[in-house]
Amino acid sequence: MLKGKNAVVTGSTSGIGLAIARALAAEGANVVINGFGDAAAIEKERAGLEHDFKVRAYYVGADLSKGPETRAFVEDAVKELGGIDILVNNAGIQHTDLIEDFPVERWDAIIALNLSAVFHGTAAALPHMKKQGWGRIINIASAHGLVASSFKCAYVAAKHGVVGLTKVTALENAGNGVTCNAICPGWVRTPLVEKQIQAMAKEKGIDVEAAAKEMLFEKQPSLQFVTPEQLGGAAVFLASDAAAQMTGTTMSLDGGWTAR
Ligand code: NAD
Repeated sequence: MLKGKNAVVTGSTSGIGLAIARALAAEGANVVINGFGDAAAIEKERAGLEHDFKVRAYYVGADLSKGPETRAFVEDAVKELGGIDILVNNAGIQHTDLIEDFPVERWDAIIALNLSAVFHGTAAALPHMKKQGWGRIINIASAHGLVASSFKCAYVAAKHGVVGLTKVTALENAGNGVTCNAICPGWVRTPLVEKQIQAMAKEKGIDVEAAAKEMLFEKQPSLQFVTPEQLGGAAVFLASDAAAQMTGTTMSLDGGWTAR
């Protein structure tokens, strides 16, 4: 379905980003992956994409918490791939604390990566997409882009910001072939959430699986985690022709979290 398309997925050395990169590659898209981690493990993932799906796959390491680096990253990715058709703004981090205890440095880091990087990446990709009259910008927001939870001021503010930015991107490009939508996942058991599960287990003196169940019970009525692969499927749909008139929306995959 996406044969010959070029896709850039930020924060794709792990979790949701990696599954989205693999889902796009499975449909024939060439991909640029990005993020931190062990060099050998990243090379294994990159080579695996080429081997498993017969596409071109590149790794461009860049710290997307820095605006100029994010813009240069998109330009480097365009050079490697020869163009950009799909941009998935996925990289994100988390920190939990009461507002008055929230370290300023953590607030700045979360806003920089979870929100400003979406702005910089989008700004760098749009001229290429507008020129060719086709593009898909897919922002990985969160259920926390639609509703709030305590202790997550920076994350909730950033993700609500991403939802707003998604709408502006959609409006400014309506009718020119470029769409922009946000995917809003509930709990997905990635390293980002595993840390929170372990913190809860420690705080409550319960085992990790009991903490995972409690986390689901609190927010996600299905009592099941969303899988990275399900989010890959959603991204493929948003990149498809079927979604050509879908723009400026949020797509919830959250087991019912935001239904109540
Ligand atoms: P993860 O920790 O598994 O992956 C995060 C990725 O971002 C990694 O590849 C990491 O190397 C990369 N990264 C971190 N800092 C970076 C930086 N400065 N520059 C470039 N890359 C950087 O997390 P995940 O759960 O897969 O999260 C991916 C996205 O999904 C995030 O935006 C997150 O907010 C969102 N999300 C996650 C959940 C969940 O339950 N896991 C739910 C809703 C939304």
